[in-house]
Amino acid sequence: MSADDWDRVLPFQLDALGVRGRLVRLGPTLDEVIERHGYPLAVARPLAESMVLCATLATSLKYDGIFTLQISGDGPIRLLVTDLTSDGALRGYAQFDSWKLAVALGSGNEDAPDGYVPKLFGQGRLTFTVDQGQHTERYQGVVPLEGATLADCAHTYFRQSEQLPTGIKITARRSDGPDGHHWHASALMVQQMPEFDAGRLDVDPEQREDDWRKAVILMASATEKEMLDPALPGTTLLHRLFHQEQPRVFERRAFAARCRCSRDRIDRVLRSIRREELDDLRDKTGRVAVKCEFCSTEYAYDDADLDKVYEPAA
Ligand SMILES: [Zn+2]
Repeated sequence: MSADDWDRVLPFQLDALGVRGRLVRLGPTLDEVIERHGYPLAVARPLAESMVLCATLATSLKYDGIFTLQISGDGPIRLLVTDLTSDGALRGYAQFDSWKLAVALGSGNEDAPDGYVPKLFGQGRLTFTVDQGQHTERYQGVVPLEGATLADCAHTYFRQSEQLPTGIKITARRSDGPDGHHWHASALMVQQMPEFDAGRLDVDPEQREDDWRKAVILMASATEKEMLDPALPGTTLLHRLFHQEQPRVFERRAFAARCRCSRDRIDRVLRSIRREELDDLRDKTGRVAVKCEFCSTEYAYDDADLDKVYEPAA
């Protein structure tokens, strides 16, 4: 596997069609995030797909801060959260009900079925948030979970948010090799460019429509196998799909699994709670243990540590 082809976004442009797009492929980052949680396959695959969707949408925006994708519903997976900072730190977690999950999958089924959204998430919504720090406005987009796949739900979002016509294809799989599990996820997105940006003010609307349709058909012709093939470089895949359109491929950006939690942050959270209330959280040894949902790191506090946290500021 060519290591510098994964955990990256590859933006491209099809000048002849007035379309831009991106190919995002995640590999080792997914292994790190997913294996740390030890989720069942039927939770891990939706998480992998939502992480690649998050990375695709986030890198289509100019922002300086945190892009968050959240799916919540009344199904076996109650909540799935993934976020990406503008410097490439990606993380994610899920909350689910094991019993409901087993019932929804049926006996003998371990993996999420294709078109799993209604079955695993139920009625719910998909939320995108861009947080650029204290003194800026938060942007938020919310759409109901409509459709069988995450790509369908993303299409609902593109339509409702009145973006330029956008198409996306998402896939994720776990492969089992002699050295354990490996995850790969991939997303391909195409988006019509504003006429002015594309330098196509003289193109008639019908031609523009045909060009757009052609881009969508070419994108959709990508097979799951080639999107996830560790041995197939992203640039080769793009040239294979769009060779007649001579895609221009731009500089790639990398992602890595990295959590933003720290002992300082947990200290601050604890300080916002009255110390007496922590008694319910004590483990057998009397320590208060707080686990980061994103990365499963555990922060433990004994009484001496808590004295320091709650010490009045000098
Ligand atoms: Zn963490």
